[in-house]
Amino acid sequence: MNVYDSERLKDTLASRGWSPTEDVEVADLIVLNTCSVREKATEKVFSHLGKFKKLKDKKPSLKLAVIGCVAKELGTVVQKRAKYVEYVFGPQSWHLLLNALENQPSLCDVGNYKLDKFNHLALTKQNHMSGFISIQEGCDNMCTYCIVPHTRGREISRAFDEIMQEVAQVVKNGAIEIVFLGQNVNNYKDDDGKTLADLIRATAKISEVQRIRYLTSYPTYLTDDLIDLFRIEPKLMPFLNLPIQAGSNAVLKKMNRHYSREQYLEIIKKLKTARSDIAISSDFIVGFCGETEEDFEDSLDIIRQVKFVHSYSFKYSQRPHTAALKMMEDDVSPEDKTERLNKIQALLKSIQKEYNESFIGKQMEVLIEENPREGFFRGRSPYMHPVEIKTDKKNLIGQTLPIAIYDASPFLLYGEIK
Ligand code: SAH
Ligand code: SF4
Repeated sequence: MNVYDSERLKDTLASRGWSPTEDVEVADLIVLNTCSVREKATEKVFSHLGKFKKLKDKKPSLKLAVIGCVAKELGTVVQKRAKYVEYVFGPQSWHLLLNALENQPSLCDVGNYKLDKFNHLALTKQNHMSGFISIQEGCDNMCTYCIVPHTRGREISRAFDEIMQEVAQVVKNGAIEIVFLGQNVNNYKDDDGKTLADLIRATAKISEVQRIRYLTSYPTYLTDDLIDLFRIEPKLMPFLNLPIQAGSNAVLKKMNRHYSREQYLEIIKKLKTARSDIAISSDFIVGFCGETEEDFEDSLDIIRQVKFVHSYSFKYSQRPHTAALKMMEDDVSPEDKTERLNKIQALLKSIQKEYNESFIGKQMEVLIEENPREGFFRGRSPYMHPVEIKTDKKNLIGQTLPIAIYDASPFLLYGEIK
């Protein structure tokens, strides 16, 4: 979502005469877009700002802005700790930067402006193979470890028609794949009752669109209508990010996740019935408050059962404004957290390796995205694998081609054009 926000800010600044540069030394404005979901975010921000201060000492006209979740969390503290920063805005107020740059020498406003920012943005210029589109802001779930409901506010969905206009725009710019984004994207519902399934059906009708994906989904919001689309809509790719976070019911309860491992497994069963080859990915937190060795074993067990692919895992870290910080003890030692993280990552990697190797000798449709070096292209399989393709051919970007897989590592497939 931060990548999306940064792109839209870049587009809108461009419409007002700014142009991007790769060289910070020549920049007239530096905008630091920040994420605070896990620890050390604040330190990272101030360490970057320290470097920018040196640039500003050399070039006093340089303007600095900090936007996003760290800015929201700290507000005016940013300007107190770094007096040289002119502008501070949160994830829902960064559109205020546009006018402030023209009219105000400095401003800090981290207020909740709901969907207001979308009314101030220029048409997107993003011309990527994959068009990312935020369809929802915020979250109402209040998982006890998570800072997102504080930084990104209450859950709210953008209007269906507005999203479809943005889909049309990214398709016009050349997108072949559409990726809908939201913290609980499968809970999307606009004021007219339109759902994510409606967005998928409408997008699938656009002939230029070959692939549709969405992320991130909350397990209990996966409706039968959405599950059925994996069966009937060929443009909806057979890959779903459905974070379970932990495999133990006791931990899920403490996390305030509204499902049990049994309910989660039931959802997976339905998904596999709709589309037997669907690949499921997840996020995991290890060492959450009160997590015992047995609880942790339950996470390993569910990984073996579901055979998750492309998953992320993190050590629990305390975050400001969360229920876990206020009411629970962070009682798993740092050593145990590290050991559990190493174990879970080793298991995820071995399952991913086995999964990837199962494609050797098979053929799959790969959407070619880039040409990293002479003689090689890179693309994505329907299951989200990055695939490296060896070929003498030129100009393949944007094509979906049948690729024969001849080798695999845990993180990459290797193939040739069939
Ligand atoms: N809305 C998504 C997740 C958004 S945050 C969902 O509910 O799945 C992205 C990931 O960061 C989470 O899935 C979680 O695994 C991780 N995360 C969030 N808060 C964390 C914390 N305090 N410590 C460690 N990991 C955390
Ligand atoms: Fe955070 Fe939970 Fe909301 Fe995801 S669903 S953003 S983890 S509070």
